[in-house]
Amino acid sequence: MVEKTITEKELTEWANKKYPDYANNTELMRMCWEKEQGVTYPLTQKGFIHRKVKEIKEGEFVELKVLIAKTHKMEYNGCCNCKKKIQTGQTVCSKCGGKDFMTYTWKYYSVGDNTGTLVVKALYPSNIEDFKCGKIYTIKGRVNKNDRNNKYELMISGDKNNVKPMLDTGLEKSCNAVLDYLDLFTLGVGEGKLREWVKEQGFKESFDDIIGNIKVCNKDGIITLMKED
Ligand SMILES: [Zn+2]
Repeated sequence: MVEKTITEKELTEWANKKYPDYANNTELMRMCWEKEQGVTYPLTQKGFIHRKVKEIKEGEFVELKVLIAKTHKMEYNGCCNCKKKIQTGQTVCSKCGGKDFMTYTWKYYSVGDNTGTLVVKALYPSNIEDFKCGKIYTIKGRVNKNDRNNKYELMISGDKNNVKPMLDTGLEKSCNAVLDYLDLFTLGVGEGKLREWVKEQGFKESFDDIIGNIKVCNKDGIITLMKED
């Protein structure tokens, strides 16, 4: 991912010069600015918007690239049926009458990028591996507002696809170049041709390394971008 970014004020100035009639539409202007700057992002699941922390809004499904600063875990005994907390000594769930209980885990992560910080919450019985402090991850989730402190937090579901460790910068650049190249061909590119092209680019990484890190479909030797629905 390209790190290029612009402040709200700079964006407004840019937009007023370039597209004065549309300058009030910040979201549109940001897309135009990114296009002009050649900012490209790897394919994301439909519906997830790539954002910086300070750009997120309540209710949005976003993809953030963040550094994990602190982690915190909270466990509780809850009803298998409705997840309601069960107090010590209680034998029946007070909400649904369920009698089977299990341990649920909440995972909290304090994270941030170069624009701000927020808390990421992983939903209980989550199969997400613990994020490691000091590492950078791309995380997808829904933005909620915490009513108690009025701060945004990101809720992520227990889907491993919503989390991916950051690629090595060199590899990431090569992957983006290949994605852009593939994007030129609606019907895909023959594997031989793509191998040839990758070789010509002189990437440091091997063809297989790059292909293994991007979402593509290889059917009968024809490689196409994976279309997500
Ligand atoms: Zn219950």
